[in-house]
Amino acid sequence: MKQDLTDSYGRKITYLRLSLTDRCDLRCFYCMAEHMQFLPKKDLLSLEELARLTDAFIARGVRKIRLTGGEPLVRKGFMGLVHHLSAHLDAGRIDEIALTTNATQLSRYAHSLKAAGVERVNISLDSLNPYTFNTITRGGSLARVLEGVEAGLSAGLKLKINTVALKQHNVDEIPDLVMWAHGLGMDMTLIEVMPMGDTGEDRFDQYIPLTEIRARLDERWTLSDSPPTLNQAHSGPARYAHIAQTNGKLGFISPLSNNFCASCNRVRVTCTGKIYMCLGQGAYVDLKAAMRGVDSSDALNQALDVAIGRKPLGHDFEIAPTQPSTLSRFMSATGG
Ligand code: SAM
Ligand code: SF4
Repeated sequence: MKQDLTDSYGRKITYLRLSLTDRCDLRCFYCMAEHMQFLPKKDLLSLEELARLTDAFIARGVRKIRLTGGEPLVRKGFMGLVHHLSAHLDAGRIDEIALTTNATQLSRYAHSLKAAGVERVNISLDSLNPYTFNTITRGGSLARVLEGVEAGLSAGLKLKINTVALKQHNVDEIPDLVMWAHGLGMDMTLIEVMPMGDTGEDRFDQYIPLTEIRARLDERWTLSDSPPTLNQAHSGPARYAHIAQTNGKLGFISPLSNNFCASCNRVRVTCTGKIYMCLGQGAYVDLKAAMRGVDSSDALNQALDVAIGRKPLGHDFEIAPTQPSTLSRFMSATGG
């Protein structure tokens, strides 16, 4: 019996975020450059390899797998992987298959996802104004995303809205977004812009600390912080508050103004098989090489041990005027 994946600080790794592709049908300006150079398809792990990789993580104690990207729903054949994970779910080997998506394709897949056992889906949406949405995503259609949200809700998926707070574009709209999400029974989480990848835009111009947004919301509504013990299993790095007037939950993910590393239980794997032990650091271990060599199962397990042994205590994010990105890697490589 192989051992669990416990790092050198005693944190047990039970949560894998797996990126299915670096491609996306949107170009959110804080996430990607306008003219992105995507990876050649041959560099990607095949769906069979992705399935084998998930098997290895599950055998080592991972209980939750989140599919992400790029945009996971643009990876051809991704439902095959969902069905593979579904068998693990049915057998009680994992607790959850989750998904993070921009929802442009969700109306096509919502029912199949629900039927395969996916319960909770995070949808990224930064504005309810079609023009602002189009600007932030560099060309996206808000109407398609709203169709996706509607389909997700009618399929019975539990949706959560993730919104990146952007100083110049959506800060004034945040109360409306909260009221809309809570009105439809969806929780919402606000995220601070993180300095990842050179998008050709100055991140400092986009960055606003969530402490400032929280202060504005406190003036308007009554927010009561949820005790961390109540939401530890699902919230991850977010701190949640209940808003009395909207009767919904609002999470705050603030890696820059509020570090959450001590309880980190997750690792991220890119679509090329690189495992990143921390979102905010550049170190990785190449699992693809291990998987494609001889004795691949042993090699993969050894590579996992090496990776987990190198998981750092915390991230190195910093943001300052005119400072280039701390990390050259784009968020779309590891899926947030
Ligand atoms: N395409 C899917 C989506 O947008 O939900 C999944 C991948 S996307 C990289 C995952 C999350 O990362 C999204 O919520 C997105 O807003 C967030 N994100 C991307 N770049 C970011 C950055 N530089 N700082 C903070 N959040 C970022
Ligand atoms: Fe695509 Fe998601 Fe990045 Fe936007 S945040 S460009 S939807 S990967």
